[in-house]
Amino acid sequence: MDFLDTLKSLLEGGQARDRTGYWIYVRCGRCGEAIKARVDLYNDLSIREKGDFRANKTLVGSRRCFERIEVMLTFNQNRRLSGREIVGGDFITAGEFEAAESS
Ligand SMILES: [Zn+2]
Repeated sequence: MDFLDTLKSLLEGGQARDRTGYWIYVRCGRCGEAIKARVDLYNDLSIREKGDFRANKTLVGSRRCFERIEVMLTFNQNRRLSGREIVGGDFITAGEFEAAESS
């Protein structure tokens, strides 16, 4: 792996190294497509009462299925995830997403 590859993998390394973003991985409840999306912890969050944050995302897969997957995330004052809900799909892990992508 040369320097550029190393840099690229650092930039694309996912949420562990992404300090300003939170990655969500979901599986469409209708067609099973794995979808990922990034929530920007500084631009996508709206402040609720009591000082915590909320982010809503609507995800649509890239295949022919137009199911809308609604994701609602709650973060505490330190921008750490404190709650999550999903309608139209299921949360999966980054590993499950990678496995679905490469199959
Ligand atoms: Zn779908």
